[in-house]
Amino acid sequence: MPINHPSGLFSQIVPAVVVFVLLGGGLFYQHGEIIKLNNSVEILSANLNVASSTLLQKVTDLRQETTKTISSTQQNIDAVKSQVGGVEQTVGSISGTVGTLKKLAEVDPQILKKYSKVYFLNENYTPEHVIPIPSEYLYNEARKEQFSSEAWPFLKNLLDTAKANGVTLYVKSGYRSFNEQESLKSAYTVIYGVGTANSFSADQGYSEHQLSTTLDFITIGQGGNLSGFDKTPAYEWLVKNAHNFGFTLSYPKGNNYYIYEPWHWRYVGIKLATYLHDTNQNFYDVDQRVIDKFLVNVFD
Ligand SMILES: [Zn+2]
Repeated sequence: MPINHPSGLFSQIVPAVVVFVLLGGGLFYQHGEIIKLNNSVEILSANLNVASSTLLQKVTDLRQETTKTISSTQQNIDAVKSQVGGVEQTVGSISGTVGTLKKLAEVDPQILKKYSKVYFLNENYTPEHVIPIPSEYLYNEARKEQFSSEAWPFLKNLLDTAKANGVTLYVKSGYRSFNEQESLKSAYTVIYGVGTANSFSADQGYSEHQLSTTLDFITIGQGGNLSGFDKTPAYEWLVKNAHNFGFTLSYPKGNNYYIYEPWHWRYVGIKLATYLHDTNQNFYDVDQRVIDKFLVNVFD
């Protein structure tokens, strides 16, 4: 069969057209499907956008909620903490007060009272604890001298430090009971007569020696005498340093309470002695109410 036969050509074109139409139709159909698919994708994507933004909002809300909860919890914790802190402070201040009262109850209130020709100490008063002063610290080793057991460590420290600084200091006399003071006074009265005895030996009950926290110092080169003590290096050292060990000069020059006794020093505690030293005041010139505030710390 010849190739160029019209019916042959036709028979070739027709299937081609059919194929073309079929293909075109198919393509057109496919195109429609693609558009539909596109639309679906767009809808889906829009839905996804909505969903994701909703989710995001939810996350943000949740986060805010959580932050709020956390901050309110923190506030609660802070409130509880500050309440506990307040309770702790109260407990602390109560136990501090109890401690102070307990400490005060253990201190003899007479320790910081004034005794001189003007102020009287009861004849029945005896210190609670006295101990013998070791003989190495005594000027006259044969004599027994006693001192307050609470104040002794401070006096020992003073004597040891003085010695280490090349200063010679001894204890001439320490604690004297009411009866000892009475017989001492009688002895002086017999030797010197009432007038003279009154001027340098306290009547029993007026002497700070009855407290057991007071002593007379003595140094060498004075022939065992107390007079002239204020001209010695030992006295100079005491004026500069005794307050650091809690001691104060009871009756300084020109005082209104007793004769000048440069050798006669009294333990009043480091805080009070330092206060007196730094403000250049005499123990007897300070108001008793001011002095009493130092009582709780007298053996610190
Ligand atoms: Zn004395």
